[in-house]
Amino acid sequence: MKVNIIGAGISGLTAGCYLQMNGYQTEIFEKHAIPGGLCTSWKKGEYTIDGCVHWILGSDKGSSFYKMWSELLDMSAIPFKNHTERLELEVENTRDKYGSNIFHLYTDLNRLQEYLIDLAPEDSAAIKSFIHPMRIMQKFDLPPVMDDLPLIPSLIQGMKMSRYLEFLYWFLKLKKQTNFTFAATLKNPFLKESFQLLYDGEEVNMMILTMPLSSFDKKSAGYPIGGSLSFAKRIEQAYLKLGGQVHYNTPVKKVIVENEAATGLLVRNNVVHASDLTISAADWYYTVFEALDGKFVDQEILDLRDLKKLDVFYSVMQFSFGINADLKEIPHFSRFPLSEDLVSPDGTVYKRLEVHVYNYDPTLAPKGKTVVTVSFYTTKREYWIDLRKHDRLAYRLAKSTFAEKILTLLDKRLGGIRDRIEMTDVATPATFQRYTNNWKGSTQGWLPGKNLLAASPVTHELPGLKNFYNSSHWNQPGGGLPIAISTGRSIAKLICKRDKKRFKTRDF
Ligand SMILES: Cc1cc2nc3c(=O)[nH]c(=O)nc-3n(C[C@H](O)[C@H](O)[C@H](O)COP(=O)(O)OP(=O)(O)OC[C@H]3O[C@@H](n4cnc5c(N)ncnc54)[C@H](O)[C@@H]3O)c2cc1C
Repeated sequence: MKVNIIGAGISGLTAGCYLQMNGYQTEIFEKHAIPGGLCTSWKKGEYTIDGCVHWILGSDKGSSFYKMWSELLDMSAIPFKNHTERLELEVENTRDKYGSNIFHLYTDLNRLQEYLIDLAPEDSAAIKSFIHPMRIMQKFDLPPVMDDLPLIPSLIQGMKMSRYLEFLYWFLKLKKQTNFTFAATLKNPFLKESFQLLYDGEEVNMMILTMPLSSFDKKSAGYPIGGSLSFAKRIEQAYLKLGGQVHYNTPVKKVIVENEAATGLLVRNNVVHASDLTISAADWYYTVFEALDGKFVDQEILDLRDLKKLDVFYSVMQFSFGINADLKEIPHFSRFPLSEDLVSPDGTVYKRLEVHVYNYDPTLAPKGKTVVTVSFYTTKREYWIDLRKHDRLAYRLAKSTFAEKILTLLDKRLGGIRDRIEMTDVATPATFQRYTNNWKGSTQGWLPGKNLLAASPVTHELPGLKNFYNSSHWNQPGGGLPIAISTGRSIAKLICKRDKKRFKTRDF
């Protein structure tokens, strides 16, 4: 049985690997010259700029995501960096009892609890109620991704069930809690301000904070040394070893449909590649409204297109600088306030700067040198995409003028780096859209709604179309690598089920 896959991003490669393991003959058609999609890095001079991963869920042996990654690649061969601090946050109006305006978000939960209680003993009860649910979450390993494991009706299973009930209790209790509502329960002014500013003054569901923190503490959300492209290439190599074939520089124009079934792909030079099944692991909007001309839709899909159900995840502007200094003493991830508002060419006003210092990955820069990246999330992605399309000169000017402003701010912050800058690189929503086709330059598909665990309105199949599946981070709001891989696996499993085959995997 022949399966065509559009896109060699993480989801497409994953679906390809599992289908190859199960005896299908697959071919991937990728518009870019390299694998990985959004999970990417690029070289500029002697520096490597990472465009994606800060942490990967499942980097420790204990988690089911580790087991799943290990079906694809040799996880034990990847050195993961587990940071002791998630973030250093500078607050504006208050100081802690030692006179510092820096809030440390430690990744070790015991250390974090001790630190918070030391600063605010008057808030002990609230602090414990923040830490405790994360301990419960840690006991609850996410089972749905490994749902083909045999269910053993044993004592162990019973214990897992009781853990689940405990998790459910805390989940229901805290599902509406945000960093603002939590901050409102705190008496200590420094902690109150710190929690309010954790997401640049935005109100965010606390689970966005607590879920990763519970994984950081378990050392289950590490950064893969070597960066994103190196990680993606490991999966590409596994796919090729399993007998798969990737056609790079081959953009797919259309999915060919005959008798309401997908029968092949039309690629460049009007070449047709026939198949029994087709998986699109490319962007959702492109797939439904361009490759299939919007012919296989229902009201639910039209509502998604018109952004009535969900919004598209933020895009990002990323300014990277190669600096001739090791910057070992600078925190790897920090946010700090600006003395005056910074207005982006797209009109967004930023009051704070978010800085990543890659001083922990020696593979990204020569010895003694470091890449520093400043990132800005934006919803004004059309500004960049349209500007690049209609006025390339103005686009370049907007990038370089804004980069210069950022460099001035960074120079002030990091203390005289201007003379040591050897490389500048700017990526905008237009860059992410151009290289990966993601609608509006989205970095993670759909933005999750208020209910984080709501069932996804995005379906694996399209109404009225046979022999066709969608598989990407667009399948579950929130996106990210865990969704990309688990969806690729689920689609492969669904296809095996449809063909009445037992789903087989393998382990490294
Ligand atoms: C700056 C940034 C930071 C991030 N940080 C993290 C993080 O720390 N942790 C995390 O888990 N996730 C992170 N993510 C999100 C994560 O990278 C994505 O959710 C994930 O990589 C999506 O994978 P995918 O395979 O579903 O889609 P994509 O990566 O979009 O892959 C789709 C592929 O299809 C190809 N394609 C599209 N159209 C066509 C066509 N017509 N013909 C042929 N090929 C086509 C594209 O070129 C691409 O290779 C980050 C993303 C960004 C941009």
